[in-house]
Amino acid sequence: MPDGEVIVERGSTAQELGPKLNRSGADVVRFLFQQGEMVTTTQSLSDDMIELFAAELGASVRLVDPGEEKEAELQAKYFDDEEEDDDSLRPRPPVVTVMGHVDHGKTLLLDRIRETNVVAGEAGGITQHIGAYQVVYQDQRITFIDTPGHEAFTAMRARGAEVTDIVILVVAADDGVMPQTVEAINHAKGADVPIIVAINKIDRDNADPNRVMQELSNQGLVPEAWGGDTIMVEISALQNFGVDDLLEQVLVVAELEELVANPEGKARGIVLEANLDPGKGPVATVIVQSGTLRTGDPTVAGAAWGRVKALLDENGDQVKEAAPSTPVQVLGFDAVPSAGDEFRVTDKPKTARDIAEQRGERYRAADLRRTSSATGTGAKLEDIFEQIQRGETASLNLVLKADTQGSLEAVTESLRKLEREEVKLSFIHRAVGGITENDVTFAAASNATIIGFNVRPDRGARELAEQHDVEIRTYEIIYKLIEDIEAAMVGMLAPEYEEVITGEAEVREIFRVPRVGAIAGCYVRHGVITRGSKVRFLRDGVIIWKGQITSLRRFKEDVREVHENFECGIGLSNNQDLREGDLIETFDEREIPRT
Ligand code: GDP
Repeated sequence: MPDGEVIVERGSTAQELGPKLNRSGADVVRFLFQQGEMVTTTQSLSDDMIELFAAELGASVRLVDPGEEKEAELQAKYFDDEEEDDDSLRPRPPVVTVMGHVDHGKTLLLDRIRETNVVAGEAGGITQHIGAYQVVYQDQRITFIDTPGHEAFTAMRARGAEVTDIVILVVAADDGVMPQTVEAINHAKGADVPIIVAINKIDRDNADPNRVMQELSNQGLVPEAWGGDTIMVEISALQNFGVDDLLEQVLVVAELEELVANPEGKARGIVLEANLDPGKGPVATVIVQSGTLRTGDPTVAGAAWGRVKALLDENGDQVKEAAPSTPVQVLGFDAVPSAGDEFRVTDKPKTARDIAEQRGERYRAADLRRTSSATGTGAKLEDIFEQIQRGETASLNLVLKADTQGSLEAVTESLRKLEREEVKLSFIHRAVGGITENDVTFAAASNATIIGFNVRPDRGARELAEQHDVEIRTYEIIYKLIEDIEAAMVGMLAPEYEEVITGEAEVREIFRVPRVGAIAGCYVRHGVITRGSKVRFLRDGVIIWKGQITSLRRFKEDVREVHENFECGIGLSNNQDLREGDLIETFDEREIPRT
C-alpha cells in the first residue's frame, strides 16, 4: 500500500483510481459492485465511491479538483514564496473599510473624507468610482475601500482575501446600535480587524452619544473614556465635524498595528472589483499588498492574465506604478477576473498565461461537475408555479450573466430576496460578459434558465439554446427581471416578447460625414438589414447602445434593405461611438404564445 496520502482527482474512473492504490480497475469495480454500486471501469466515480474504496484498503486519499495539483506545481515553481526578510519591510498605508447600519451615514462620510483630502495637485480631477481611493492626511496616506457596507467585506473574506486593516464602524447617534451594526462588529471581530467607532449625526437634536456608547459596550466595545480600549469619535458627516479627529485616530491605530510590506519585488495583491468596459476591455481594480506593480508587468488573476497595459488611479490619471496599499485600475487582462481573486506578477507573460489557462480548465471542470450534480431538480421559469401548486419545493436553476461585477452582485442580491419556502434559487454559474455557448451548455445540463443583464447571447449561443430548448431571458432593468420572476412564482408569467433577430452586420469601418454624423461601413453576415428596424450594438456580447437605423445605403444609393453577404453603409440615430468589430443586430418583437 502506498505510504502517506494519495492524491486523487475528483471524477477519476476505476481505471485511474485502481493503480494509484496498487489495485486494478476491475478490483475497484468489483468492490463497488459488492457495495451495490454498478459502475464500469471508464465511468467517473463520485467522491463517496473513491473514499469508500480507499477506506476499504486502509489508504488515505486527498481529493483534488482536476488540474489543482498541476496548478499548485506551477505555482510552486514560479512563486517560490520568497521569505520576507525584515530588512526589506517598510511601513505602508492602512487600508480602511467603513461599515455600519444602512442610513447611518457611511456613504456621506466616505464622500466627505474624499472631498476634503484628495491628494494635493490632483484636486479637480474627475474622480471616478473604482472601488477604493487614497487620501493624504498629515502627510500620511490612508486607503479607503469605497464600497460601504459589509457585503463586499464578507464576500472578500469568504474567498480568503483579507485586505482591510482597520474598520470604521459608523453608528448614528439618533438611532443607536442596529442589526447591521452588530453584524459589522461580528465580521470585524471574526477577521481580527481593529474597530474605530464613528458616532455620527451628532448634529441632530435627538442625538444621544451616551446611549450609543452604552449599547456598544453591551456588544463588547467599551469606550476608552469608560476604561475600555475602543476608540470612539463623535462626528457629523453632514457638517464635516470631527472627521479630522477620526482620520487622526486611524493614523494612531495604524501606527500601533505596525503595518509593513516589502515594496520591492514582484507585486501581488487582491482584486477588489472588475468589469468589462465597452471601451477599455476587462478592467480590474486591485489593491497592491506587496511589491510594486508597474505597467508592462505580466500578471495573472484568477483565470485572467495579461501584460499591464495601463494603470489608472481614482482620478482616472495614468500612473506608472503602484506601491503597497495603493488601489489602481489595471487594464490589459484578457478576461474579467473575479472580486477577491489574488493577482500576481510573474517572471514572463508565458508563466501568467500557463497559470491562467490551467486555472480556467479547473474552473470549467468544477462548474461542469457542479452542473451535473444539480441536474434533474431544476424547473423552467414557466413551470415553477405548477411545482409550487403540487406542493413541491421548486428549485429554479439560473445561469446569470451581466455587464459588470457590480450589476452581477446587485441582480444576485435582488433575486436572493425573492427566495422563499417553496422556491429555491440555485445559481449554476455567474459571471461577467456576454452569453456564450459555454453558458448554454451549463444551462442545458442542469435545466437552468439563462438570465442576461445588459448582455446578449452571440449567434452560437442562440443556436445552441434553440437546439437544447434552453430559455434565455435578457433584461436591461432590474425591476423588470424581478417582476418576471415574481409573476412566474404565482403562475402569471406574462407572455414573453421574443426578439427575432432579423439581421446581423459587422462594422468594418467608420466614416464621419459632416452634418450626417457617423456612418458605419458594414458587412451583413446574416439575415437582412432593413431601414427603420430596431437595432442594438454589441461589443463582446455587451449591449453598448440601442436605437434605430436612420439611413441605409449601398454605393451612395438609399436602399430599403440589404441582404446577407453584401456591404452597406448604416447611419444611426444620434450615436457616434462606433468602433470597428462592433456587431449590429436588428430585431423584431413578437409575442410567444404560452402553452
Ligand atoms: P449609508 O446608508 O450608511 O451609506 O448612509 P448615507 O451616507 O446614505 O446617509 C443616510 C442619510 O443620513 C442621508 O440622508 C444623509 O444625508 C444623512 N446623514 C449622514 N450623515 C449625517 C450627519 O452627520 N448628520 C445628519 N443630520 N444627517 C446625516
